[in-house]
Amino acid sequence: MPERPEIIVASTAGFCPGVKNAIDKALELAKSADRPIYTLGPLIHNRQVIETLREKNIRSVKDVSEIKEKGAILVIRAHGIPPALEAEIRSMSLEVVDATCPLVKHVHRAIAACAEKGCDTVIVGDKDHAEVIGLLGYARGRGRVISGPEEAAALPRMDKVNIVAQTTQEESVFLAAVEAVRGKARELTVSNTICKPTKDRQRETVEAARVADLVIVVGGRNSANTARLLQICEKLAPAAVHIETEEDLDVGLLRGKRTIFVTAGASTPTWMVEKVVSYVRGLTGAGSSLREQLQLLWRLGITSGGYTALAAAALSYICMKLEGAPISQKFIMMSGLFVLSLHMVNRAEEKGAAAPDKARRLLFVRFKSATKSAAFLSGALAVLLSGTLGWQVLLPAAVFWGAGMLYPHKPFSGQGEFAYFPASKDILTALGWAFFCAYVPGIWHGSILLKSTHLAVIFALLLVFIRSVMFGVAHAHSDMMVGKENFYKAAGPKLTYLTLSAMFVFLETVLVLLIKMGWKPGLALALFSGLFYYPVLMLFFYFRKIPERITSETLIDSQFLLLALLTWTAR
Ligand code: SF4
Repeated sequence: MPERPEIIVASTAGFCPGVKNAIDKALELAKSADRPIYTLGPLIHNRQVIETLREKNIRSVKDVSEIKEKGAILVIRAHGIPPALEAEIRSMSLEVVDATCPLVKHVHRAIAACAEKGCDTVIVGDKDHAEVIGLLGYARGRGRVISGPEEAAALPRMDKVNIVAQTTQEESVFLAAVEAVRGKARELTVSNTICKPTKDRQRETVEAARVADLVIVVGGRNSANTARLLQICEKLAPAAVHIETEEDLDVGLLRGKRTIFVTAGASTPTWMVEKVVSYVRGLTGAGSSLREQLQLLWRLGITSGGYTALAAAALSYICMKLEGAPISQKFIMMSGLFVLSLHMVNRAEEKGAAAPDKARRLLFVRFKSATKSAAFLSGALAVLLSGTLGWQVLLPAAVFWGAGMLYPHKPFSGQGEFAYFPASKDILTALGWAFFCAYVPGIWHGSILLKSTHLAVIFALLLVFIRSVMFGVAHAHSDMMVGKENFYKAAGPKLTYLTLSAMFVFLETVLVLLIKMGWKPGLALALFSGLFYYPVLMLFFYFRKIPERITSETLIDSQFLLLALLTWTAR
């Protein structure tokens, strides 16, 4: 490969909001329900995600008659279904959970309103697609489907017509169909119902495909919107290919390419796109460069939890400063080891959810036993060290560690109540870190009853809670299967950002008061200014400018190192 190509990755790649919502609903049910869960047709057209769902006992049926268990749960997928079928399944002894995308429901309403006025509906879409079958059901027998302008000629003359699009339709096809249908109707209402996520995805695809030598479209074989993206790209780029996984990629296609654009369908998880991108990077000669080696090292540091352990050690240092305790390397090490151990254990259990990139493969596949042993040994060492401080430290340390080790396993995260408790993961993480980083130094220093230690504990609790919630946001954005054990998933975006902002304001207010009272003003000022890092990051997250998972995690944990640095420089 003579020259390293530029790889452009679509910012719109990954699950669309409708698919994301349907998957989240099904996963939440899998956690809380003790009955079988079915979906009417595959929840999404992505084999890898379907396999992961099957592991969680979420199965798809073609027809409701296949469901034999009374009281089973049936999830209506994002595409929606015809109203007659919905009425039929609601009359059966099933619990029906409607995960129809609100944007598809909007089209249902538009068609139903038109049918009520006695006008005809023309749908521009694939007549065999589940969404179109559902849409047609709302037209009360006055609906017709055309795939594009060519089929408009076969339409009869009509009086009043409403023309709508399948939500994933290509816009140029829809607009051409509108013009073709115009001659067939006395009065034509145009409802451009292509959803915004699809429009954004197509717009970005058109722009990037024009400058690319090769477009790689990642998505399920049966995904209609992935096929449509490919059609768009084939018209614009010299070469375009549709692959389901990186294994489908013909390596010869990469030869001589200067610009490669990677995009994906609405039901392709971000981690699958990342996997393809890292594969292409590796193949194009990038894997051997120093930059790539450093990148791998960085990914290993983040994935293994090494950087998070460093963040915990930094927090320990900050808390000791706040408490006025002498800096103890033992406590710094203890916090780091404790966090490292639990981070590794939790990461190892993220199977089927996260991208098995090179770092993950090395840590959790190739050197799985070594990683597991390291996770156990570092945790055990942290607990042993805590034992040197007496039983009142040893006991809670062992409880926290035990709970953290068991957390990713059934019954704790499977159908158990514990993990289902909203925000349980964030709360437990905050408690564990606050215990090791703030409470233990306080006990040892004899300042546990002093206000400075209370302050350090509250500071650590809130800061780690914010960190953990932001991790949840980043993971959800990467299409990892996170559930309501994450505050973000339990509370939704608005309440999440409101809560995080309130916590930030509370911490800053306390620090301002301390500065005014003249209590360690240098330290309080350092923390006050350093803490502004998080709201800036939150703003980026809020406006969905969320980098890929490894970068996000690095940025989130860097808050602790920044604060430790400022604390160190403070007088
Ligand atoms: S493609 Fe658009 S309409 Fe369809 S499920 Fe996704 S967001 Fe909803």
